[in-house]
Amino acid sequence: AVNDSEVTPFSVPSYACQRRSTLKNHNAVLTDSLSLLAENAELSDEDGRGVAFRRAAAVLKALPSAVTKMSQLKGLPCLGEHSLRVIKDILENGASSEVESTKESERFKALKVLTGIFGVGSKTADRWIREGIHNLQQLRDSGQTLNRAQQAGLEHYDDIKQPVSLAEAEAIRGIVGRAVASVSPEAQIVLTGGFRRGKLTGHDVDFLITHPEEGSEVGLMPKLVSWLESQGLLLYQKTTRNSYLEGSEGPGRPPSNIDRFERCLSIFKLSAGQTGRGVQSEETAASPSAAERRWRAVRVDLVVSPISQFAFALLGWTGSKLFERELRRWAGHEKGMSLSSHALYDNKQGRYIRASSEEEIFAHLGLEFIPPTERNA
Ligand code: ATP
Ligand code: MN
Ligand code: MN
Repeated sequence: AVNDSEVTPFSVPSYACQRRSTLKNHNAVLTDSLSLLAENAELSDEDGRGVAFRRAAAVLKALPSAVTKMSQLKGLPCLGEHSLRVIKDILENGASSEVESTKESERFKALKVLTGIFGVGSKTADRWIREGIHNLQQLRDSGQTLNRAQQAGLEHYDDIKQPVSLAEAEAIRGIVGRAVASVSPEAQIVLTGGFRRGKLTGHDVDFLITHPEEGSEVGLMPKLVSWLESQGLLLYQKTTRNSYLEGSEGPGRPPSNIDRFERCLSIFKLSAGQTGRGVQSEETAASPSAAERRWRAVRVDLVVSPISQFAFALLGWTGSKLFERELRRWAGHEKGMSLSSHALYDNKQGRYIRASSEEEIFAHLGLEFIPPTERNA
């Protein structure tokens, strides 16, 4: 038998952007529990607590084997008192009472269902819950005024909550690729988000589009959206114009983590024939209507960036969300720089630092390059 003194503590660097986090995770029970508490905090507008749980989960994801004893965690970063209590509970009792009671709470369940509607955030969900609305039927019966996004979200709720498969993401890539080629032959398109990190499913499909000639990307999004609409491929879309101006950041005005690219949040109508193997919702048909239909709704995000900002946009839209947050924290706290999806700004030198690849950005930040598949923090 191995006693406590023989257990070697794990060691990991403190920032997630210094670590290689693959999709393989030896501590899924622990990280799922901490992620649930993070989600609950985020849905309750307690972002600080949410980040603390996310950081703790990310440290456990980076460990080379399963944690069996608390003593192995000695000296690890980002494990606060609260997270350690949850881990201890699970190691000793097989489950955490806090996680179990959160999972079962009516409030958490209602927040999950309501924010699962595209276009509904935690503030709106909270207001509805206070008005006695806990599920979709109560929402429909309440006569609440829904905006266009929320109406589409409610209408396509069952489809959108079904994970998007890699085959479906690739089918949509083909469609959007043809659309882009027909409105701007030189333009380039890349799959970003979770699929670029090697995930096999996602809650949506994310694309970044650019043009090799600076300035030629202007006007591309409206043309692309019109093309897709003319083909009957969009169930919903909302395009936001580019509002980024270089120089609007810098000292005293750190870059916001919300970027200002021209973007289109959409719901695609993906036909069964287009994936080559039938739509997923047919196989796992929750409702008969999904099986009778020959299509499913899929959330798609489109972003257009000028080529001069492409590397920053690619890095910023590949994720994971925690990896991005940690990159910005590293840049600010360790390097005196401000990183956004548009640019890198050196606060001391008072100048922007150019980069044309992700590798260059990591190098400017004094970080070892971490490939997309190892950014799953
Ligand atoms: P999933 O598989 O669930 O879709 P994901 O990692 O692709 O996971 P998304 O929510 O699609 O998650 O986000 C993808 C990337 O885009 C993330 O890195 C995120 O930081 C970035 N992102 C998402 N929304 C915004 C936004 N409004 N502004 C800036 N960046 C965003
Ligand atoms: Mn995504
Ligand atoms: Mn997205």
